[in-house]
Amino acid sequence: MNETYAQYFKAWEEKTGAFLEYRDDLLEKAAAVTNTPPSLAGLPFAVKDNIAVRDFSLSCASRFLETLRSPYTATAVRKLEEAGAFVVGKTNMDEFGMGSSTDLSALKTTNNPWDFKRVAGGSSGGSAAAVAAGQVPFALGSDTGGSVRQPAAFCGVVGLKPTWGAVSRYGLVAYASSLETIGILSDTVERCRAVFDVIKGADPFDQTSRDSPAAQVSSKIIGVLSPEAIAKALAAGTGGAAHKAAEAAALSPAVAHAFDNAKAALSALGYQLVPVEFPALHYAVPAYYTIAAAEASANLARFDGVRYGKRPDWAENPDDMIDKTRTAGFGPEVKLRILLGTFVLRSGFQDKYYHRAQQIRAAIRRDFERELGGRDADARCCAILAPVFPTTAFSRDGDGLSPFAQKAADIWTCCANLAGLPAVSFPVSVEDGLPTAVQLLGKPFAEGVLLDIAAACEKAHPFPHPKNWQNFWPQAA
Ligand code: GLN
Repeated sequence: MNETYAQYFKAWEEKTGAFLEYRDDLLEKAAAVTNTPPSLAGLPFAVKDNIAVRDFSLSCASRFLETLRSPYTATAVRKLEEAGAFVVGKTNMDEFGMGSSTDLSALKTTNNPWDFKRVAGGSSGGSAAAVAAGQVPFALGSDTGGSVRQPAAFCGVVGLKPTWGAVSRYGLVAYASSLETIGILSDTVERCRAVFDVIKGADPFDQTSRDSPAAQVSSKIIGVLSPEAIAKALAAGTGGAAHKAAEAAALSPAVAHAFDNAKAALSALGYQLVPVEFPALHYAVPAYYTIAAAEASANLARFDGVRYGKRPDWAENPDDMIDKTRTAGFGPEVKLRILLGTFVLRSGFQDKYYHRAQQIRAAIRRDFERELGGRDADARCCAILAPVFPTTAFSRDGDGLSPFAQKAADIWTCCANLAGLPAVSFPVSVEDGLPTAVQLLGKPFAEGVLLDIAAACEKAHPFPHPKNWQNFWPQAA
């Protein structure tokens, strides 16, 4: 079979629906790439539709911004363009990045390339599906509580959430600023490293972005955050919700099997594995949703029908206009989180919710620092190994995951965001026809350390691909 790249791209697109928008003329341009990795010259890439690319859509998969065209380009995208890569299209996502399946997109459904009846994960599900199908060699996403790593795991690709501040957020539509980073989804670990090397660094347009020398770590000890350790942390509390949360965080047999495989692979590579416990994770999910909702309610306040959004044909007064615009423009999950955010920030209630969540966040950071060390000091471990999500890609019929279970499952990913740490997820094996993955977390600016370990695993166990996958891109030797 000798399909052209454009035909291949479109054949997958019909089945998965990864893109909200792509350009035919650009598919032609991507036809013959002959660079030598790690060069990105000539490579097409995809960008989640909450990251600005001039003259492309910037809908955040919301009715509210459905017709918005971006007048400017995000710094991370601009740097990739300067390195010779180019954007072919914008990918689907959960509305404003709120979700774990991409089914909360108000605009389109995206299917998993391994099984079209299953979700691609979220919220960067379109970017993950596009890379897994080989439509693009890499894509940008955003990770506020796991939205790069979880869809990467569901689709069988590499997902990097960088250290908070390592990559400029200029041009990323804000959901929860103190938690989120622009992240990378890619076909191989080396491609991920090449992209990260291009997009990282201080940017005058984002005062929270930093240049920092890559952290070096000499330890060969990896701390294992096991399902038993999480169960123990959750059991420490009281009440039915903690019990239900522990149930939702428990690994499915397929993921548990993959986790054991990953431990064996790392031991075979010469790493010593030691168990670690982070008791503060008991409160990780409540703290994450409190902070994320609070920041979302502030960040989304600009969407009022005056500056952005479709206005109603008629309104009684300005309040009525804002009310009508938001009622029609936002989906139910977005409304829920804005309301929750204004609730936890209500005057007189901030100490009870928001400030407590910040204290929990500090405790989680200290838990990780004890094992990984900080900026100037090493500790016992070079990385922490953990599952990414308790299940493989879930289906839409019958055995889907409840909204509560999806949120409780974020315990595995949201801790890296609360602590501001880098984390990379990568494929381990295929179980029952679906990819599985694990993640490695490191100290601030230790992306290189994590990628080195992931690359060694990839070499020992090359990553799997879905049926009918073809490679169009030069690979590192
Ligand atoms: N599931 C998380 C949430 O819904 C992840 C979001 C994200 O990382 N953007 O908030």
